[in-house]
Amino acid sequence: MMHHDYVVFNNQLVNFNEVVFPVSTQALNYGTGVFDGIRAYKNKDGINIFRLDEHIQRFIDSCMTLGFLNIPSHNKVRDQIISLLQKNQVADDCYIRPMALKRALLPNAGFGVKLSDVSNDYTINSLGMPSLENVEGFNCIISKWRRTPNNSIPCEAKVTGGYVNSALAKEEASSFSCQDAIMLNYDGTVSEASTSNVFVIKNDKIFTPSLENNILNGVTRRTVIEICKNRLGLDIEERSLKSEELLDADEIFLTGTGLEVMPVLKINQVALVSGTNTSITKRIRRAFYRSVRGELDEYLEWLTPIYQ
Ligand code: PMP
Repeated sequence: MMHHDYVVFNNQLVNFNEVVFPVSTQALNYGTGVFDGIRAYKNKDGINIFRLDEHIQRFIDSCMTLGFLNIPSHNKVRDQIISLLQKNQVADDCYIRPMALKRALLPNAGFGVKLSDVSNDYTINSLGMPSLENVEGFNCIISKWRRTPNNSIPCEAKVTGGYVNSALAKEEASSFSCQDAIMLNYDGTVSEASTSNVFVIKNDKIFTPSLENNILNGVTRRTVIEICKNRLGLDIEERSLKSEELLDADEIFLTGTGLEVMPVLKINQVALVSGTNTSITKRIRRAFYRSVRGELDEYLEWLTPIYQ
């Protein structure tokens, strides 16, 4: 995956290599940053950013959670993202990452971890990222790591430091030659995978953990719920799920900007039918890819073209 040449740094377009952070950077020492992840897709008409406004809104909400008060307005962030992709002459599927981070202690601020009395930096970078459309699916484990509860790190915000939890789970999955890990909450209910939400299908019924289960309010999760309800006529029940329901499932799939809609082929070695051509997961996955590529008229409003 290749980073693009230009990035936005504190509202200026600069070269990727010009952005360098000193060792004293607060976010580097303490994980005090927030970010979001957005995809743009190529189709016959050009490049379209998928659900840009929903991602910007979540990014700004994340910024507010950690007290980044000088982030530009929604419309300004939007314009910056579009200008960045134009400047980078994007011609294929790509990924966009806005990030705000705590930088340097203000004069008279004592050494140590804190959110106020620290300067803020704000960046947006982009990189080429092909869709995972042709990946058959992932083998997953149920992680030994529990999901960070909302009353430890607010789970509706994408806080950089919180991703240690995700990285540990992902690493554990790799040690079992699996591609991802589903984490449970302290009460044993299902939360989410390292960077995606989880859906379970049993006897043609679709379930997903509710927002009370320490999950990120995923844009792809909302997209799938909408597509299921209004295009495919499939109901989704949002409720707490027990870990046994994962092992007893017919199908499981993960949703996220990075993973898109990813069938889970095996969970803890138990084979599922999520990847088969007749699965419900496949139907949802097909509709999802049609929506991101602008093939479904009713969802064209989800796309923001970067070249007009
Ligand atoms: N959960 C976590 C922890 C994530 O990092 C992500 C990726 N942003 C998701 C879920 C999926 O969210 P989205 O569909 O908005 O990318």
